[in-house]
Amino acid sequence: MKRAVFLDLQGTLGGEGLDDIMQFSFFPFAEDAIRLINSAGMLAIVITNQSHISKGLFTWDDYLSRVKELEDQLASKGAHIDAFYCCPHSSEDICKCRKPSPGMVMQARKDFSIDLPSSYIVGDTGAWDMALARTVGCMAVLVRTGLGEGSLAEFRYLWKDIEPDFVAKDVLQAARWIVSAEKDSC
Ligand SMILES: [Zn+2]
Repeated sequence: MKRAVFLDLQGTLGGEGLDDIMQFSFFPFAEDAIRLINSAGMLAIVITNQSHISKGLFTWDDYLSRVKELEDQLASKGAHIDAFYCCPHSSEDICKCRKPSPGMVMQARKDFSIDLPSSYIVGDTGAWDMALARTVGCMAVLVRTGLGEGSLAEFRYLWKDIEPDFVAKDVLQAARWIVSAEKDSC
């Protein structure tokens, strides 16, 4: 069984707010965070909602070529994402993959034999990422970038019954905490 860090894309690894993957760019510290996860021997897996595909704003092929560009950028910095999982649907499609539904995590678990209780979900939204972590039984790490501060303040009521296991300044601090927590558990 493998351990994974499931990473949200927009607001967590880069970009801000609800921009789609076409406008996405990595935060300058994101590559360091991913490299830390890589060198800890954990899987780095992106799980992302891209409802603009369902809405026709860009195509699945556009998405795939953008992912390829992002992978090339990471490779040039010695970091890699083991897999990207994408929900292309909108909330009106009633699918099983759109976060906070567990479809993408459950598919990854099957594809990579992942042990969910010793894995982590890192994201900037309480009502999507942290709620998903609780549903699938992963550790929940909220980052303050993107919508993170808003999740902790005006939108806290949307996920009031959930406590994140850790609140990090950003994804780099989150990765450092995860890697040190990994060491403590060995
Ligand atoms: Zn979906």
